[in-house]
Amino acid sequence: MKPAAFSYVKPATLSDALGLLSKHGGDAQILAGGQSLVPTLNMRLSAPDLLVDINGLDELYGVELASNHIRIGSLTRHVDIENSGVIATHCPLIAAAMPHIAHPAIRNRGTFGGSIALADPAAELPACICALEAEIEVVGDKGKRKIAAKDFFKDLYETDLKDGEIVTAIEVPLVTRETRLAFDELSRRHGDYAMAGLAVNAKMNDKKIENINICFFAISGTPVLAEGAAKILNNSIIDDDSLNKAIGQLESDLDPISDLYASSALKMHYAKELLKRNLGNWIS
Ligand code: FAD
Repeated sequence: MKPAAFSYVKPATLSDALGLLSKHGGDAQILAGGQSLVPTLNMRLSAPDLLVDINGLDELYGVELASNHIRIGSLTRHVDIENSGVIATHCPLIAAAMPHIAHPAIRNRGTFGGSIALADPAAELPACICALEAEIEVVGDKGKRKIAAKDFFKDLYETDLKDGEIVTAIEVPLVTRETRLAFDELSRRHGDYAMAGLAVNAKMNDKKIENINICFFAISGTPVLAEGAAKILNNSIIDDDSLNKAIGQLESDLDPISDLYASSALKMHYAKELLKRNLGNWIS
């Protein structure tokens, strides 16, 4: 199929892009890497009058190391994050997730901000940034604001972005000596979207967990932080008993939605298995 007719513009500045989005409202759509948008145009699931191509906005590219966080420009391609030494050193959870995102051809064009704005429930990066307590910087005609990742993902493909806003960067806290991380997913073939996935970020003091974020993806309409399970594990040294309690608690923390690949019950089984496999390695 071919897309419905649309106009195309590639603004040279952020303020031009914001002006166009403000003028055309819901009739305009942002084009980043095009890896999800172009297929939806071709299938006519999406038919904007105007595509605003933001690829000319140089300030949206790159990875910058600040004193307590990494700033990832929204147009930074997945491949550049995968190959970044700064990400590998200071943000290893995201480095671990990268090879699971689709295939090299898609990672060559797909962008970090595009993945966050799209909010696919089976995507790796939204779950990672929720586990990492990252912030999303967005700019609109009313100015700039930052949103905690856990408050950004509202529902299936729905976010806190308002009409005309652009995701400009994601700020991720740096790992410290006390950080302990885990990333894992189950998919039919490597590179496919996950059937269930897990991103964990914990602060450990010696062996004691002081703060743990356990975030599942491909389970419900948004990334889900398993808060009850985290509460069980916080302020303790993980052992078989506390891990089994945390696994049992997932029955209350999660409400899996069946999809093409798995029933709700099977997704719950996957989630429990992922937690057991990954945190089981933390028992000394
Ligand atoms: P686009 O496709 O250009 O845009 C996506 C949406 O986000 C559009 O609605 C667009 O308007 C909006 N948008 C983009 N950038 C911004 C911005 N800065 N501000 C506001 N709105 C914006 N992803 C995974 O995470 N895991 C996978 O396993 C995976 N598998 C894939 C397999 C296939 C076959 C394909 C085609 C894609 C897959 N993807 C997967 C998606 C891929 O990771 C894309 O990078 C991701 O969808 C974002 O695409 P993009 O950057 O090209 O954004």
